[in-house]
Amino acid sequence: MIDFPLLKLISETPGAPGFEHQIRNLVKSEIKDLVDEMYIDSMGSLIGVRKGKSDKRVLVAAHMDEISFMVTHIDDEGFIRFHPLGGFDPKTLTAQRVIVHGKKDVIGVMGSKPVHLMTTDEKNKMVQLRDYFIDVGMPVAQVKELISVGDPITRERELIVMGDCVNGKSLDNRVSVYILIEALKALKGKEIPYDFYAAFTVQEEVGLRGAFNAAGHIDPDFGIGLDTTIAYDTPGALPYEMVTKLGAGTAVKIMDASIICDPRMTSYMKSTAAKHNITYQAEILPAGGTDTAAIQRQGAKGSIAGAISIPVRHIHQSIEMAHMEDIAGTIALLTATISELDKWNWEL
Ligand SMILES: [Zn+2]
Repeated sequence: MIDFPLLKLISETPGAPGFEHQIRNLVKSEIKDLVDEMYIDSMGSLIGVRKGKSDKRVLVAAHMDEISFMVTHIDDEGFIRFHPLGGFDPKTLTAQRVIVHGKKDVIGVMGSKPVHLMTTDEKNKMVQLRDYFIDVGMPVAQVKELISVGDPITRERELIVMGDCVNGKSLDNRVSVYILIEALKALKGKEIPYDFYAAFTVQEEVGLRGAFNAAGHIDPDFGIGLDTTIAYDTPGALPYEMVTKLGAGTAVKIMDASIICDPRMTSYMKSTAAKHNITYQAEILPAGGTDTAAIQRQGAKGSIAGAISIPVRHIHQSIEMAHMEDIAGTIALLTATISELDKWNWEL
């Protein structure tokens, strides 16, 4: 149903905010035969363009970067201190492996104080990012030879199939990178109404920065964000707290903390899903934001903007989980949404 080997490759390839070259090169090689033209803007976002019948423009953005860290200090014993790039939940770092991208990639572990030596107070307190250090198991001279202040650090985790789901790091937002590539594949050789800009953006996790820039120079009429959202359908969650449910279909975003989606776009997406028998759920996310917010506001007149979200459990951890049917449904909804934009009445 989905191309698991491609999703695995996309998920496991590193791409810290501002350091997206490896994932960008992979996407470039995947889309080069699927687009009419392709370019990289000065910030590093990769944009593939499919020409449509009229010169109205639709921008679909999926960010390539992943939550990461940056080396801030190496101490006299060779232990590394770091600064987060994106919203890490500190408790999820315990005993995780990471990759420090120095002169070469170096595997390390997130170390912390042994539980045997913690006071009762320390045990009861939630851990903080500053409680961790990275241990790469090398003498200090070797650490300093290979690693410098400013080097990016990403999570080390294999993507696997688990039940009906996929599980690994960076499904936020590599699952969307994969979906955008699949939509380009589905539309290959087919006539589309408007110019389609598939933007693989940079630096979303530190504040929608790449999308802000890309939407500025593309100046789209329609804007669609593709990103993950919370699936809090797990023990302890109250029914009204779930945001979305895993396996209950792709999600049409109504709003999040950064955007109220254009009601014309949400109505269009819902009716397109219904028309094509694509199961969907409505998403309202009280916190957080996506590239959609930048796309709605940038450009000469702003854009008619909305978003399609992929439900993800355990988000911003090393073991993020998405349902394969939700992924397939998102590909179908995105493809239909781009194909039929000219069939809708967009008047206010
Ligand atoms: Zn994201």
